Order: sequence, then C-alpha cells, then structure tokens
Amino acid sequence: MMAQKEKRNTCVQEFYVLDGGAIDLDKSSLTFGHGMGEMVRVPTPMYLIKTTEGNVLFDTGWNPQIVPLLSEMGLNPTVTEEHSLPAQLEKIGLAPKDISKAVLSHMHVDHGGGVQFLPDAEIIVQKAEYRYAFNPHSFGALAYNEGDFTFPSYNWNLIDGDQVLMPGLAVVLANGHTPGTQALVIDLPDTGVIILASDACYLSQNIDEEVIPGIVWDPTRALHSITKLKTLAQLLGGEVYPNHDIDRWNTVIKKSPDYYR
Ligand SMILES: [Zn+2]
Repeated sequence: MMAQKEKRNTCVQEFYVLDGGAIDLDKSSLTFGHGMGEMVRVPTPMYLIKTTEGNVLFDTGWNPQIVPLLSEMGLNPTVTEEHSLPAQLEKIGLAPKDISKAVLSHMHVDHGGGVQFLPDAEIIVQKAEYRYAFNPHSFGALAYNEGDFTFPSYNWNLIDGDQVLMPGLAVVLANGHTPGTQALVIDLPDTGVIILASDACYLSQNIDEEVIPGIVWDPTRALHSITKLKTLAQLLGGEVYPNHDIDRWNTVIKKSPDYYR
C-alpha cells in the first residue's frame, strides 16, 4: 500500500493585502480591444507575506513624488501619504527595515515606486525586467520612472526565470505584459494556494475569458502567461488573484489589517 502523502511543507504564515491607492484608466488598457472609452477605477495594491524566514513584500506601490504627475495626466489618483509603503506597513506594526525580501512583479510605476524605502532588503526582480526598465521601447516608456529604481548600491537579486524562494513560496515568470513580469505562488497553511498574478491578469475577465492586458509588450507571451497561471492554479488546487480588479477589491478581497492564514 502507498504511504499516505504528507501535508505540504510551507514557511508561509500570514498574507496581507495592502492598500496602495487607486487611479482611473480606460478599460481597454486592462483588457486588450475591450471596453474602449469606458473609464474604470483601478486599485493598486501591495502584498505582505509573513513567513518563518522573515517578511516578504510583493510589490512596493507608488513613489509619492510622482502623484502630482498622475493628476496632470487625468488619472484621478487617490494616492495619499496613507497609501505609501511605510504607512501601510505601520498599520500592521511593521517598518521598511523589517522587510527581508521584496519581490518586484515588474518595475512599472505602481509596483516599483517604494524601492527607495528598502535599502536593506533583498530586492528580487527578473533580470530581463531590470535591463528593460532602464531602456524601454518608446511604447512602454511612460510606465517606467528611472528615479524609482536607480539605487545601484541596494541589494538587487536579478533572477532569470522561475525560482522557489522558500518552501511554500515561489516566483514564476509570467511575462508578456513586460519582459520580466513575474507572479508569486503562496502556499498558505489554511487557505491553500494563492497565485498573485500581478499584471499578467489585471481583472477576473483576463483570466476567465483569456483576454490579454491592454498594456502589453508581447501579446503572445501575455496569453501564454494567463494560461500558465491558470494551469498552475488548477494543478495545485489554488486560485489566481488578478491585481487591479475593483470589483474583487470591493467584495471578496480581505484587506489589511485583516489577513489570510
Ligand atoms: Zn500595475
């Protein structure tokens, strides 16, 4: 008789969804070829994972200094001091110095703006993303702000592809939105597997209907990343969490200081 399979081993303890504010975007920026002319609210979350190996951040939010620019662009930002990385960490009794690893899903302005607060953390980003962020194509340049990540003395860990960070926590390449977009697979003790898609999947619609993001570097890879994350979720019995879905934000998402276990 086969031995009973042991329960999965995981270092993950708690998972928090932090409120990084919100902006308005044309829906076709989120869903390629769908919803042109329809403005939608876009929450811009950050995520904190408490583990037995330290606190891990997934994305770092906006650089407070570029918020006036967002207003000028007509994006109607609700991005205040309260939505900054230090303020959101403080709400759960943490400070930037308590972060041991910060994973950047990619380096767009709503994801890499808080790197400045993390001089001591190991900053984990795909090598292809780091390279591209300094020299983007003209069509992608507006979404990067070099001032957000020009910190050569920081502890950058440039990885190349999928990697297990610790038992129960792994990054998987989910590019197409940008050259190095990566997702985070989290194995929680009670909730089970959550896959944070970042901008590989903005909305539930991107997942359910396999519609690629409207902001895209390589559409074919973007589609393959959606199917890759769905496949992983199915295999692991987990769920893919789209990153910028206002309907989920207002209903099903458990927001900090509440948390998933
Ligand atoms: Zn984003």
